[in-house]
Amino acid sequence: MQTIGLIGGMSWHSTEAYYRRINEQVAARRGGHASARIALQSLDFEDVRDCQLREDWAGAGELLADAARRCEAGGAGLVAICTNLMHKVFPAVEAAVSVPAVHIADAVAALAQRSGWTTLGLLGASWVMEETFYADRLAQRGVGVVVPSAADRAEVDRVIFEELTQGRLLDSSRERYVEIMRDLAGRGADAVALACTEIGLLVGPDQAPLPTIDSTTAHADLLVDLALAPAGMDLAERSSMRV
Ligand code: GLU
Repeated sequence: MQTIGLIGGMSWHSTEAYYRRINEQVAARRGGHASARIALQSLDFEDVRDCQLREDWAGAGELLADAARRCEAGGAGLVAICTNLMHKVFPAVEAAVSVPAVHIADAVAALAQRSGWTTLGLLGASWVMEETFYADRLAQRGVGVVVPSAADRAEVDRVIFEELTQGRLLDSSRERYVEIMRDLAGRGADAVALACTEIGLLVGPDQAPLPTIDSTTAHADLLVDLALAPAGMDLAERSSMRV
């Protein structure tokens, strides 16, 4: 089993979900006392949020690249950024280490492909919904997106940063998200990508009006597949075992 490098703390509420899911998957697949080998770098989200609000993506890239290097120095055989939004600086992280960096949108796209879904409603931070870095990565794998209206995007983003990343899960926000999901279904979404790692903490599959892909569990499961794959396989070979 390879050590999984996690760049987390964005927010710690979702990093906790990654840690739990990865360990549960390793235990289920290996049995006994098996648990995951993890090298976790948990950042102070205040530093990252400060870069976001100043749109200092170079600075944010340096923070995450340094964390990736520390994961590798701690023995990680692969690294992952435990947030969708911060994949905006994926190239900086990928360039900082000699081990593979596993992109969260690839995990989402693989799950959509396996389910036969070609159009996903996209819920996440404003930059995820409005810029191309995330949708393009999905499109490269044949998956298209529909995004909420401008007013709904602002509300989705507000709930993420004023509530979810601070551990606040409100019924009123869950109801609002469900309404927005319904609207996305009406505009052609086969399923909704929860492209913010905290949304799955607010809206469970039973509460959503259409199927969902939780980016956190999709990413965590792909990391486990890769970490447990037979030694000697390269990343593309190991990924294709699941894709
Ligand atoms: N965890 C969120 C995401 O998946 C947002 C927090 C952040 O990284 O800014 O995009």
